Amino acid sequence: MLSQTTKDIIKSTVPVLEMHGEHITTRFYERLFDNEPSMLDIFNQTNQRRGQQQTALANALYAAALHIDHIEDILPVVRQVGHKHRGLGVKPEHYPIIGENLLAAMKEVLGDAATDDIIGAWAQAYEMIAGAFIDVEQAMYTQAASQHGGWDGFRPFVVKKKVQESDVITSFYLEPQDGGAIATYEPGQYLTLKVNIPGLAHTQRRHYSLSGQPGQSHYRISVKREEAHDGWPDGLVSTYLHRQVHVGDILEVAAPAGDFTLDVTTPRPIVFLSGGVGMTPLLSMLHSLLAYDPEHEVTYVHAALHGRVHAFQTEMESLASTHPSLRYAIVYENPEKDDTERAHFLRAGRIDAPLLSTLIAPEAEFYICGPQPFMQAMVAALSQLNVSPDQIHYEFFGPQRSLTA
Ligand code: FAD
Repeated sequence: MLSQTTKDIIKSTVPVLEMHGEHITTRFYERLFDNEPSMLDIFNQTNQRRGQQQTALANALYAAALHIDHIEDILPVVRQVGHKHRGLGVKPEHYPIIGENLLAAMKEVLGDAATDDIIGAWAQAYEMIAGAFIDVEQAMYTQAASQHGGWDGFRPFVVKKKVQESDVITSFYLEPQDGGAIATYEPGQYLTLKVNIPGLAHTQRRHYSLSGQPGQSHYRISVKREEAHDGWPDGLVSTYLHRQVHVGDILEVAAPAGDFTLDVTTPRPIVFLSGGVGMTPLLSMLHSLLAYDPEHEVTYVHAALHGRVHAFQTEMESLASTHPSLRYAIVYENPEKDDTERAHFLRAGRIDAPLLSTLIAPEAEFYICGPQPFMQAMVAALSQLNVSPDQIHYEFFGPQRSLTA
């Protein structure tokens, strides 16, 4: 427990963190990777180059300082990040190294303003917050390893099948090389892959949502090829998977993780809103929901640029034709020739509040996944329709950010 004096000191640093938070976290990661290069194997270096990880950590520090009187308020975030850490392989022994470099970065950036009292208070707060992460993650490691078919760390899986779902999305069907059972998962969860890309000094770890139905003898993930754009290079792992990983190859996989999940026993109507490859967790949820209750009231609206990049159309058509309670609609931003003739095509353009008002029951639960601007637009549209934030659930395919700012 922190003393009131310590909490007061932490709270007094809120304005400083608001102003210098990203500078501190940028220096922190630079120091961490210089002092502990093995961390380069764990953390996503593209997120570092894009500054996304630094922003996410700065926001987390700011939130911790702001909520220091009620630190239990940040527990949902601890759990969410804990799932990612468990997939990536963050261990208790990493926390002292992280703490040491974080405090050193604070001292370095804040200079004389970082008094001994301030650094002392943050050292205590860090120890407490790190303790919360370690406890949550230890429980997750134990759970992942002890369930039927579960395992600890990374397990080799064979690529049994590769299926092209669109011009840019390909599914990979994975079975364990040891031939053993595999852990089931909750619809919406993801796998974490660890890959060694020839020519790169460090392993790359990325999360991929499970896009199939739980309870099978294989996992399915579906990966969008992130091509070079605006002067930025091809995505490392997605292009490697698409171009260099073939049927029969081995991938190192961490057990399913994640807290963006659907309780299929809910009596409420469900609305899924996906953009691009954001379909993956929602498709798994849809399969599970209809397997549990084939007549559940469910609406699925998918946005894509046009038909060539739209994945899973046949799978969705098949679900819609066998489940009259599923209302399925597609919206293409720039439809190409014949796209408008596709089954379930609704209109050209984007999904907005007036369109949603014709499709959804306001008392529904909403599950959203897609690029950040898409999710921002969906949250704004639902808020225009007076949907309560408690009814809205979403997953970021990158470090956590705010959708309402
Ligand atoms: P990276 O190398 O990480 O690059 C990402 C993008 O950044 C590329 O577009 C690249 O051009 C650009 N870039 C590179 N360098 C810079 C720079 N310096 N500045 C600016 N931009 C730069 N993806 C899926 O396809 N399917 C899924 O089901 C899926 N599920 C996910 C679930 C979760 C919970 C999370 C967190 C992510 C998920 N993702 C999914 C995303 C996935 O983890 C990867 O982030 C994605 O495949 C890109 O990884 P990459 O290595 O190919 O690209």
